[in-house]
Amino acid sequence: MKAVVLGRAPGRPGAEVVDLPVPDAGPGELLVRMSACGLCGTDIEKLKGEYTASAPSLGHEAVGVVAKTGRSVAGFREGDRVFPHHHVACGECYFCRRRSETMCAEYRKSNIKPGGFSEFFVVPAWNVARGGVLKIPPDMDLELASLIEPVACCVRALDACSVAGGDSVLVAGAGPVGLSHAILLRSLGAEVIVSDVSKPRLEFARSIGAGAVLDASDPGVVLKARELASGRGVDVAIVASGSPKALTQALGAVRKGGKLCLFGIPPKGSMLEYDLSDVYNADISIVPSYGATEKETPKAVQALAARKSEFRSLITHRFRIAEFGAAVSAASSGEAMKVLITA
Ligand SMILES: [Zn+2]
Ligand SMILES: [Zn+2]
Repeated sequence: MKAVVLGRAPGRPGAEVVDLPVPDAGPGELLVRMSACGLCGTDIEKLKGEYTASAPSLGHEAVGVVAKTGRSVAGFREGDRVFPHHHVACGECYFCRRRSETMCAEYRKSNIKPGGFSEFFVVPAWNVARGGVLKIPPDMDLELASLIEPVACCVRALDACSVAGGDSVLVAGAGPVGLSHAILLRSLGAEVIVSDVSKPRLEFARSIGAGAVLDASDPGVVLKARELASGRGVDVAIVASGSPKALTQALGAVRKGGKLCLFGIPPKGSMLEYDLSDVYNADISIVPSYGATEKETPKAVQALAARKSEFRSLITHRFRIAEFGAAVSAASSGEAMKVLITA
């Protein structure tokens, strides 16, 4: 079978398309034939050697069809269409009991093998036994279902910021994740402002119903965002970009007592240049959100089912496993919105 794996060059590993034997499903495991797997910004960071987690593997937004069930697997059979969550927390440790499940030591240890950009992959028994595998509703196509993981991460972030109907929210960054936030925010009844430096991306934001869009390269962008929110500033700003500049602008746009959600991953070594006394005096909470859990993935399925056409419109490019290099180029150039690798 064809699979994309990380190269071994230190510093800038890159991707290699390799031929591997089809793995077998051991006890408690599932063997899944991949149908679609989204290319995430973190995959590109891993290729550049910039990702900040240890032992990275590629492709974590995979969905597919169960090809084989390991011994003593209950509740799944061959032919089931599934979303297997790649990381699953233990649910019992200090962090899990305090709602920091994505900080659980087991969370990042569990992963699909050899990764999502592979014709077949194995879901570990740990993930299967702890509810990490969802069956995809019959009326949901597998491409749309490949958005479950990234949308679940957005759901967790919005929950962490307690966004409610009527809130004004700035989404800084109009990539696939920023626009997923925008779609979810509209469903919640929030007023959505989207900022980005790319005009085509802002057009895209309009097409999925953003109430207002702002050019992030305009020096007056912070003031404009505040004005759009009755002059007082937005209740919540979501930084859906790794750019420290987007973060600075978002902080400036938040109202007194509001929240800034750190969602996009800043490159390692990023420093924030901002007057901390302003953060203190304006009583702004900075809320990072990493990953998602089994609490959010079912909510993501519901959100996708409720806004099928908007979410589906985010998927602009599809490539086969062998075309992985072209997929990365399309995603890196900014010409694509969401890029999928399909079987
Ligand atoms: Zn991702
Ligand atoms: Zn735990």
